[in-house]
Amino acid sequence: TQTRFSNLELSDHLLQGLHDAGFEQCSPIQDRALPIALRDRDVAGQAQTGTGKTATFLLAAFQRLINDDNEKVNNPRAIIIAPTRELAIQIHKDALTLSKYLNLKFALIYGGTDYKVQLEKIKSNIDIVIGTPGRIIDFYKQKAFNLDNIQVMVLDEADRMFDLGFIKDIRFLLHRMPEPKKRLNMLFSATMSYKVTELAYEHMNNPVMVRIEPDEVAAKSITQSA
Ligand code: AMP
Repeated sequence: TQTRFSNLELSDHLLQGLHDAGFEQCSPIQDRALPIALRDRDVAGQAQTGTGKTATFLLAAFQRLINDDNEKVNNPRAIIIAPTRELAIQIHKDALTLSKYLNLKFALIYGGTDYKVQLEKIKSNIDIVIGTPGRIIDFYKQKAFNLDNIQVMVLDEADRMFDLGFIKDIRFLLHRMPEPKKRLNMLFSATMSYKVTELAYEHMNNPVMVRIEPDEVAAKSITQSA
């Protein structure tokens, strides 16, 4: 789009990170969703991978934490939940790039490996948790951290959370955070099924629905047969 990041209400440190990443102009989802989220309104976005949704929620989350004067709490202030470890790793990678000039600490949490390393990390006064639901709950139940100070909640690929059977875990976590209107909530999903919409209304604060139509639903380079 013609919208430049420099025209949005983003801190200079974030603009520097964007500049280093080579991002100057907003993609359609960024153009539509960022101005809303930067004003602390919840966003439920229908957007697929490849649209720039990750930078959308990361920038809004970072800006909210920058504006926050409660920087000294010892527990996470933002949580980003993804259905798969691959997605969590990718989000973490993008987060490190875009937050290069900020002083934020992340814990990347997912199942299958590095149990102790991740446990130590989440105990170490981090600002943002990025991860998959199962292990986040495991650490939560061990009281390695709490969710009392969560100001930003992101649910990525919400439809896949249902497909993979994580929805009870998601609800468990959401019920342990401050109430929806005390947080900035962002949900992204490739499809806005009835279940996803219901989840959005139940756990978000009157979200603005933003829909980006994909040009093609399936990747052009893949031949499919059934
Ligand atoms: P995502 O949909 O979040 O997986 O992003 C798709 C790809 O687009 C990633 O490789 C991003 O690094 C890149 N990207 C996101 N936003 C922009 C932007 N505004 N300008 C250029 N590239 C971007």
